[in-house]
Amino acid sequence: MKVCIIGSGGREYAIATQLLADNPEISLDAIPGNDAMTFATIHPEIAATDIPAIVAFCVENGIEFCVVAPDDPLVLGLVDALEDAGIACFGPRKSGAMLEGSKRFAKEFMVKHGIPTAAYAEFTDVELARDYVRKAAFPLVIKADGLALGKGVVIVQDLTQAEAVLENFMVDLKFGTSSAAVIIEEFLSGPEISVLAFCDGKTIKPMISSMDHKKIYDGDEGPNTGGMGCVAPNPVFTKEVAAEFERNIMQPTLAGLIADGLDFRGCLYFGLMLTDKGLQVIEYNARFGDPETQVVLPLLSSNLLDIFLATSAGRLAEAEVEFSARHAACVVMACEGYPENPIKGNVISYDSEVAPFLVFAGVKRNHNGELESSSGRVLNVLGFGESLSQAIDSAYQHVSQVSFAHNHYRTDIGTKAREIEAH
Ligand code: ATP
Repeated sequence: MKVCIIGSGGREYAIATQLLADNPEISLDAIPGNDAMTFATIHPEIAATDIPAIVAFCVENGIEFCVVAPDDPLVLGLVDALEDAGIACFGPRKSGAMLEGSKRFAKEFMVKHGIPTAAYAEFTDVELARDYVRKAAFPLVIKADGLALGKGVVIVQDLTQAEAVLENFMVDLKFGTSSAAVIIEEFLSGPEISVLAFCDGKTIKPMISSMDHKKIYDGDEGPNTGGMGCVAPNPVFTKEVAAEFERNIMQPTLAGLIADGLDFRGCLYFGLMLTDKGLQVIEYNARFGDPETQVVLPLLSSNLLDIFLATSAGRLAEAEVEFSARHAACVVMACEGYPENPIKGNVISYDSEVAPFLVFAGVKRNHNGELESSSGRVLNVLGFGESLSQAIDSAYQHVSQVSFAHNHYRTDIGTKAREIEAH
């Protein structure tokens, strides 16, 4: 079977290696892919958002199945265009991807279907937004409506900060039209949980839970990033919490998707927070998370391609989705200076025995054929074990066997999870 994966990061590398491990007979193209993906034919000349070029490539090359992993091509309607050209896909059509593409759309969906989420107000008029924050209690959370590379959410502590963010988002249009509208949300607190689920529009099957680490520095300090590390499963997601999730969030979400005719076929990501009012949805994503995918998929014991094909065809009910009882940890090695000013262009070296534990993302091959750091998050280093501690220790052992100049990684991935597990 000829399969094409859209994207170039660690998430796509992890999906690709998982597909090939279970199905070595498939041929794999990656658009654009990255230079470490030696197991696929990469196409750096085609952008992941160039819908006409991707459709033309897939049609001309007889691609039979396309996995669309990143948010922007999904929101732009790549799956609609590919399916209209007769190519089956894993990933929702534009209408379903709106759950991620517009925070107003997602909040309206949650309110309509009784799904617990932070109280909020939405604004397209900056004057009305200013009036609202002048009367509000702090902290508050201001979110750009559209996609903003994970940077469109700001927790504001006082009125001065709130007015500055509103100016920046709605007047200066920091994220273009994505920040012309905002939502202003009640501040919630509690541990966060990520749950990915396969959904074919009629059936939903959750994967194991995970815990992301979004801040750049140890102790959850500094700015938000795309994610600096992850562990799976998440010890906060006990059997009781999982039952609450299924009852109050997952099944009502599926019922809402069906009632609204969204026919969501792909991976639905639930960003959750366990607050003192119970489990709340912080956000939906319409795709696999990065780096959650890097820890969740290696624990999948069922065949990923079979699940993708069943999801796309609306036969998920018949597919086996089973996970091993092991634990996984992932430490992201980034460029020093990430997320604002990453220092790139440094040669990466590693012991050959750790190669199976490395998931490459922001890398380029130089004229000597060596891999160099080429963007913020460079590679993901994995560890596995029979316990959370074993998995974390193993991941850090592997980190010590990788080096490149000007690297940065957190040294406390999983520390909070270990503490929670110990209590
Ligand atoms: P990403 O693209 O990285 O998934 P995003 O830009 O879509 O993120 P959210 O996931 O909505 O943004 O929020 C980012 C982070 O901000 C959350 O993981 C959480 O830590 C924090 N956050 C968001 N909403 C709230 C809230 N209401 N109360 C407290 N913290 C919040």
